[in-house]
This record gives sequence, C-alpha cells and structure tokens, in this order.
Amino acid sequence: MIHYKTSEEVQKIKESADILAKAHGEVAKHIKVGVKTSYLDKIAEEFIRDHQAVPSFKGYNGFPASLCISVNEVVVHGFPSEYELKDGDIISVDCGVFHQGFHSDSAYTYPVGEVPLPVLDLLKATKDSLYLGIEQAVFGNRIGDIGNAIQKFVEAKGYTVVRELVGHGLGRSLHESPEVPNYGKKGSGPLLKEGLVIAIEPMVNLGTRNIVQERDGWTIRTADRKASAHYEHTVAIFEDRTEVLTTHKYIEENFKF
Ligand code: MG
Ligand code: MG
Repeated sequence: MIHYKTSEEVQKIKESADILAKAHGEVAKHIKVGVKTSYLDKIAEEFIRDHQAVPSFKGYNGFPASLCISVNEVVVHGFPSEYELKDGDIISVDCGVFHQGFHSDSAYTYPVGEVPLPVLDLLKATKDSLYLGIEQAVFGNRIGDIGNAIQKFVEAKGYTVVRELVGHGLGRSLHESPEVPNYGKKGSGPLLKEGLVIAIEPMVNLGTRNIVQERDGWTIRTADRKASAHYEHTVAIFEDRTEVLTTHKYIEENFKF
C-alpha cells in the first residue's frame, strides 16, 4: 500500500531533508586522504542529534551506524570503520534523518584525491542519471519512466545498473511502497500521484551489474570488484510540480570535483 502525503506531511519531510542536506555538507568538509570513515559517521551523527533529529539508519534492522559508507567496489550499505581514505578512492556517503515523525534519505559519491578518469566519468554519469530520473518523476508518469531514463542513459555509456537494490517510498517509515527500480520500461509500474514521496537512488557499476553480499550481512560489493557509484535524492510529487526535498547544495559548496 502506498501512503500519499498531505502537503503538511511533505513540509515535515522537507524539514527533515534540510537537516540531512546540511549534515551531508558537514561531512563533505572532511572528505580527504587520511580521514577515517568512522570519523565521518561521528560528524554526521553529532550534527543530526544537535538538530533535534535522529539518524534514520542507526539501529535500522541492526545497522550499526548513522552513515552507510561504501568505498570503491562497495555499492551500498558499507559500515564506517577505521579505514583511512586513500588517494584515488571513491566514497559513497548515504544518510537518513528522522525528524518530527518523518524520514528523509540522500546519498552522494565523492572522489578522494586523484581518481582515474574512467571512474570520475562514472561518478558524473551516475549523478546526471539521478537528475534524468527526477525529470521523469512528474505527476501522471509511472515509476517505470524513472528507471527507464536512468537505465537508458547509463547503459548508453557502457555502465551497468544494479537491479537487486532499488529506490523506495518513504515517510513515517524509511522504506515504504513503491519500489523505485533504476531500470525498467516506460509507462510501466504505479502511477505517480499527488503526495507520493520517493527516494530515487541510481547505483551504477563500471563493470558487471552483478553484486555480492559480504559475510557481515550488509556490505554489498560488485562481483568483479570494479567501482560503483550511488547518488540519491528524496522527491515529492504534486499535480503541478515535483519538489526535490533533499539538496546536494551544501555538499557542492564544500567539495568541488
Ligand atoms: Mg539512502
Ligand atoms: Mg534510500
């Protein structure tokens, strides 16, 4: 069942998303060679709690941290750790905020130092695909239009789309119906109606689309250990407009690539 939100509820998600966007901005200031990924998690958690909010991921099905930190071949759901970022790494930072009863969810993948051009191109294409997906997330379209736009764009560049993990509805729960795949057929799937709030989150691989789960029960990596990128926004559909509730503006003010 899909929970359509009232405009008052969307406003609350937007306030949650604003704290989230600023938490990402704080993390962005610290993305550099030599930084421990557990330190990034501490920055995010402190910022979120200082703003009378709760990190959505911490304790979610037993997840141990406020951020999912996914380095290089890790697609999503990596744990923050004592690992220190190295020159040439890419790092996906995924975060959720719970505030006034509502969740927001957003992710960004950063290059660290000098990253090989093919990997930088993967990041740029994945980020562009997120916005192409958002362009299709309009009233009267269907869920499949979003995934179709993402898939067509990234596959034309020779990349692959992860199928097993998808975007999702969100609101009072972090993960609600509908699923929002990053692949699919135009005109397929649920209709996008007023009050639908979804997280769109392309996960795009440089090599094979196949993934494996590590023994920790969370970490997802590419089967061929080639790089994977991930960007995510939370968006709300209205009859006359689509609002991107999260923003990467605080990241991009603090981190250029
Ligand atoms: Mg996320
Ligand atoms: Mg998500």
